[in-house]
Amino acid sequence: MDTFIYEALPIRVRFGRGMVSAVGAEVAHLGATRALVLTTPQQETEGRRIGALLGSAFAGVFPGAAMHTPTDVTDAALDALKSSDATCVVALGGGSTTGLGKALALRTGVKQVCIPTTYAGSEMTPILGETKDGLKTTIRSLDVLPESVIYDVDLTLTLPPALSATSGVNAIAHAVEGLYAQDRNPVISLMAEDGIRTLADALPILVHEPHNVEARTKALYGAWLCGCVLGAVGMALHHKLCHALGGSFNLPHAETHTIVLPHAVAYNAAAAPEAMAAITRALGAPDAARGLFDLVRALGVPQALSQIGMPADGIERAADIAVEKPYWNPRPIARDAVRDLIARAYAGERPG
Ligand code: NAD
Repeated sequence: MDTFIYEALPIRVRFGRGMVSAVGAEVAHLGATRALVLTTPQQETEGRRIGALLGSAFAGVFPGAAMHTPTDVTDAALDALKSSDATCVVALGGGSTTGLGKALALRTGVKQVCIPTTYAGSEMTPILGETKDGLKTTIRSLDVLPESVIYDVDLTLTLPPALSATSGVNAIAHAVEGLYAQDRNPVISLMAEDGIRTLADALPILVHEPHNVEARTKALYGAWLCGCVLGAVGMALHHKLCHALGGSFNLPHAETHTIVLPHAVAYNAAAAPEAMAAITRALGAPDAARGLFDLVRALGVPQALSQIGMPADGIERAADIAVEKPYWNPRPIARDAVRDLIARAYAGERPG
């Protein structure tokens, strides 16, 4: 076995149905007596239900979380936090809400209980991406790592089928890139392979039966594993591409990941044979890139960037941005080959 470094992140996790009832206990465990609940506008009602569970520790809801953590939203949430006297936030929602909690922790040191309701995995990472004046900057710091995470399967039952599918493939993308990361290690690779396997088993069921508790449980467990991978090792071309495409054309986060992933894997296949073997084992398919493409097709979500708002004349620009300050990648980044990758993702072609 190669030499490696493995660093465990200090996050406390509760997992299972009905676990949200322990939210008050988690807040108390962090030494806090007042907690501000964070949500998107769409999940404010659920946030108030969490508030009822908190009893006297409930310090109100800030229902303004938005995609890509805009700093003006964080400023408004900081005011709400200050006037609430809370020393803890409870972030209920997907990556957008988790991002807001992290942004508040970075500025104030406030403790965080995360209750994820999508499969994005941000709750397991010391990573925060923030947007100011249309520019996204990403930092990696233990200061933003949540102290406590509650995975309650019941709260994911309402996640719409299409969002379940794309959010789940977003999670798979973390695991796929973790398998060929420069700083990969055998413990994280175990999590990555199992994360892909559990999500690939569960997602095709969920798109038809969104209330299937067994499939929801598997998917949330898989998302947790994939989030651990994202938090532990570096990402490569796929994440760089999605970052560039999302930022340049304002494309939706999870959908972009879902479309690009099979093509990024095809690009890296020859340079990362062990990772490809793990992905094919997890998918039960003979080829990693085509297996992922077929999984996405079975989920019935868009497979072409042209379908989610990317302009045709954006392909060259996206290629330029994607090769600027590249992340480490198992196969060297060649502009023409990356341009072809983007063109295939734009058209929604099955990898050859
Ligand atoms: P999201 O948090 O924006 O949620 C999408 C929509 O779904 C929102 O309206 C939300 O309220 C709603 N929703 C969430 N859960 C629901 C549920 N169970 N039932 C009904 N509706 C529900 O989407 P996301 O994909 O989870 O997060 C995307 C954001 O997270 C992006 O900004 C991305 O950059 C960030 N992210 C960060 C990291 C990290 O490690 N820093 C990792 C992954 C994603």
